[in-house]
Amino acid sequence: MTAKYLTWKQPRKVVNANIMQEVLDKVDACQLKDWNTSLKPRLHKESEFDVAQRSTYLRVDLQAIWNNIQILKSKCANHTKVIAVVKGNAYGHGSVGVARHLSQCGVTHFAVATSLEGKELRQNGVTGFIQVLGSCVTEEMDTMLEENLTPTVSDVNFIKIWAEKIKTKHEENIDSCDQVYQKFCVVVKVDSGMSRNGCQCEDLPKLMKACAEHKVAVHSLMTHFAQAWDDPVFTQQQLATFLDAVQPYRKTGVKVHVANSAAIIRGFGTHLDFVRPGIAIYGLPPDSSLQSACIVKSLGLKPALTWVARPSLVKTLEAGRSVGYDQMYKLLKPETLATFSFGYADGYNRLLSGRGVLTDTKANQYEVVGRVSMDAVTVIVDDNVTRDTVFHVITDDYQSPNCVANMAAVLGTIPYEVATSLAARLPRLYVTNQQCVGRGTH
Ligand SMILES: *Cc1c(COP(=O)(O)O)cnc(C)c1O
Repeated sequence: MTAKYLTWKQPRKVVNANIMQEVLDKVDACQLKDWNTSLKPRLHKESEFDVAQRSTYLRVDLQAIWNNIQILKSKCANHTKVIAVVKGNAYGHGSVGVARHLSQCGVTHFAVATSLEGKELRQNGVTGFIQVLGSCVTEEMDTMLEENLTPTVSDVNFIKIWAEKIKTKHEENIDSCDQVYQKFCVVVKVDSGMSRNGCQCEDLPKLMKACAEHKVAVHSLMTHFAQAWDDPVFTQQQLATFLDAVQPYRKTGVKVHVANSAAIIRGFGTHLDFVRPGIAIYGLPPDSSLQSACIVKSLGLKPALTWVARPSLVKTLEAGRSVGYDQMYKLLKPETLATFSFGYADGYNRLLSGRGVLTDTKANQYEVVGRVSMDAVTVIVDDNVTRDTVFHVITDDYQSPNCVANMAAVLGTIPYEVATSLAARLPRLYVTNQQCVGRGTH
């Protein structure tokens, strides 16, 4: 087997060769030529590894997240409130750490994907409104009632059983107590064209009637866009369909919301009662294209997460040695290898075998060689590298080969999947003002 050397200074060219020049010509919102010079050495305190109790950890800048939210807010009407989406362990950033900090900043509304995600937040002191997205099912009801989580509802049957459960649990004073019904309000979801969750527009009156009959309070009406980032015509149709369907209820004061990150940035539904940003509050673009990264960057958004690691072992081996499972890489000359103690069980995709790149704090690039193992990754380094050299597995920018967007491009996926794949076993260090303010896995 012959050795494979991948030099990978401009990964986008590899991935998107045909559109690269076109995009470069078009995009002047951000000065691409300045990007490389704008890379600053990054700060690290040695003690962070001790706090992490591991040779690798995620560093989550809570201030960056709050700052991103404020940027997104500035794109919306003054009265529009933010529901911060922290599902999927806050897109890998750690839902408890993120939600707690945002609560302190004054965020009162959160959204998760499952009742157990919501319960986790409650058990860690997050108060306020927590919506469970999707179409909630009866299996989740007891948890949602116990933890005062707000379900997203698409069918009449759920409403009936929800109301019965409220009655059983609050038997003594239920008839006199509007507050109980207010507390256990629901969000009703309308399918305006995505054909996934939500009731059909023509069924909305039936649902609203069921809520009224069973005294279930409706917190708000919502819909979700299928392609707000790059199909403005379809998005406008969805918005119009939704606003038409909810018009009678808005008049009675029911709140409405539609916008995810892409819609906020593109200006759809930013004047309604709430917006529901997810990916953009973490400073990530909704897809892996260079153009999207440019747009997100030009708004002032900033990735909040870096993945930091230092080698667990550094050694120089002679020519002829093979590295890792399947002997995928063979040394043609003596080389220095750094072994890192993380792998695909931490969310470092195995498809990055022979394709991934780590950077040091001066943005020098080092190739991942051989197979990515479950708990180990091998990287070719130079003789200056020691156990104390700090590397970035993921950088908090938009241009390094190992930023989230570029990793997504290499893997043929989207930043969402790279971020949510970051495993719970990775320690998360939460920092504000470059000071570590907490540690957790969530
Ligand atoms: C995940 C989700 C969001 C947030 O989407 P982003 O694209 O991450 O901003 C908003 N609304 C619903 C219903 C969702 O499921």
